[in-house]
Amino acid sequence: MRDLRPAGWVIRTYRDRPSLQPDQLYLEKIGRPVWEPEHRAAGLRQISSKTRRLVLERDGHACRRCGHAAGEAYADDPDARVRLTVGHVNPHKSGSAANAEDLITECARCNETVKHLTGVQMTKGQVWDRVTELPRRGKQELLHWMRADGRTMSQTERVWAMYRQLPAVTREELQADLDRLLES
Ligand SMILES: [Zn+2]
Repeated sequence: MRDLRPAGWVIRTYRDRPSLQPDQLYLEKIGRPVWEPEHRAAGLRQISSKTRRLVLERDGHACRRCGHAAGEAYADDPDARVRLTVGHVNPHKSGSAANAEDLITECARCNETVKHLTGVQMTKGQVWDRVTELPRRGKQELLHWMRADGRTMSQTERVWAMYRQLPAVTREELQADLDRLLES
């Protein structure tokens, strides 16, 4: 309801209408469709293009949740290409203009996953079970990410993310250059 009211929805409770019971709500006016992608993109909390650019650069033009870079294919879905968006770290927190520290670079898929988890919070035990299933190396890597509060990228991954931003023609040229460099 907190999300609907700023979008023009008029929802009455027993406080507004004495005829209603405390557990009843009355929908007086339907507002804007907050579930539509355009609306979500427009958002109640505007992100300026300058902030967006800042966040993308800070995160190395890669999804902070799964690590995929823009234009890359997903390992489990080779037909889908990664499209990056700038999302809110906490999508359920309401507020005004968003600052870079409240924002995170994420691919459209991770962004959707987070949205679909609306109101569904994993318990500590559920997450811990997944943690213990990881091989030792995975556990060490995870601890490293936890300490850094983000998925750390190797230097190679950072360069890869930059490379993925280039147009196809330039990527081909770079690939040929690197091929020559390694052969010499
Ligand atoms: Zn992702």
